[in-house]
Amino acid sequence: MAFCATFVFCNGFNTRGERMKFKDSFYSMEIPDDIFKSMEGKSYKANCTVEREDLRYLHILHIGFDGKVHEGEMICNKIIAEDLLEIFRVLYSNKYQIEKMRLIDEYDADDESSMRDNNSSSFNFRFISFTTKVSKHGLGVAVDINPLYNPYIKEVNGRTNVEPATATEYVDRNRDFPHKLTGNDLCCRLFAEHGFEWGGDWTSCKDYQHFELPDEKIRELGL
Ligand SMILES: [Zn+2]
Repeated sequence: MAFCATFVFCNGFNTRGERMKFKDSFYSMEIPDDIFKSMEGKSYKANCTVEREDLRYLHILHIGFDGKVHEGEMICNKIIAEDLLEIFRVLYSNKYQIEKMRLIDEYDADDESSMRDNNSSSFNFRFISFTTKVSKHGLGVAVDINPLYNPYIKEVNGRTNVEPATATEYVDRNRDFPHKLTGNDLCCRLFAEHGFEWGGDWTSCKDYQHFELPDEKIRELGL
């Protein structure tokens, strides 16, 4: 994905591991043509009800698990673009570790593969199963952070369903391990300050990686 060539001031390690410079490294823009092409038929499916113009491409810096600066990319709805830039800017300046932030199209828009690779992401168009309601990720108003260490957990007919399926060792939240999102974690606090709900607070299931705009806000915005 040759996007950085167009930004001569954009520096750091890009997603291909090449060294770049760091100026103007947090920004949002309308989705560039080459990136949109790579989304079509993947995260931006043929039946997508969200306009391309309502989505934004975010360019972010983040500190990886190796303690180094990495370049991240994310697609989200324009209504949360500035909030996300502010949140990720603060996380970055506090050296909060996020392992990967690549476009989900690099995983063919397959959530399970992206989560197994501990990739943090936002937009991926889909309807909620068996409904005509677009999911919060489908609207680009939800974000998953370090998903492998912070799985989605739901009890179904007495069985524990874990997504990604490779995250079973991170289901026990009483256990101490790195990259665990907790209510008073900096990341959770920042998303809360910006009006997001955390899936770790839910009772019918737990989605520890997940932050989303609440339903009332979605209705108010007419999304
Ligand atoms: Zn999510």
